[in-house]
Amino acid sequence: MSKRIEAKITCPRCKHQFDYTLYRSIWGEYPENRELVMSDKINVAKCPSCGDSTKLVFPFIYTNAKQHFAVWWEPEYDPQIDKDSAGYANMLGEGNYLATAPRVRDWDEFKETILKFERGELKGKPGTMSSGMEGQMKGFLKDLEKKNKKQNSGCLGMVAAIITVAGGLGYTLFQIIL
Ligand SMILES: [Zn+2]
Repeated sequence: MSKRIEAKITCPRCKHQFDYTLYRSIWGEYPENRELVMSDKINVAKCPSCGDSTKLVFPFIYTNAKQHFAVWWEPEYDPQIDKDSAGYANMLGEGNYLATAPRVRDWDEFKETILKFERGELKGKPGTMSSGMEGQMKGFLKDLEKKNKKQNSGCLGMVAAIITVAGGLGYTLFQIIL
């Protein structure tokens, strides 16, 4: 599933506060999801009070498990992406397409990068993701349990309970839905 995050948005125009669910990841192999990105409608919040629409400057990863590629839109440096990439490398092996997903700052360049992967001009490595994410995740979690029992090591930084984004962006995240 695409990962979504609840956020409190403050409308930049009228200062009304409302809840909005942001995408942190989106599964681009589904045409309706791809369309959300390509038509610039992803993470655009419409204020219920004044009707103004705001595109939220929030990094997310676009993935396509069928074509084995992923691309981050990272308008501002996000240290959580370093942790996510390390988690993917641990889970799926170094060099797989999620761990090595390009991090693109510019929105148009981000979309162009997706198109390049779709046309085969860029290629990602499948890793072990292609054989079914859920099975892999379950296997991974079992491995993690074993490791934790053996080594009593902490988490791999894959799951964060709370992300807070600097106030200037006008929204606060308070929960991640996995
Ligand atoms: Zn408003």
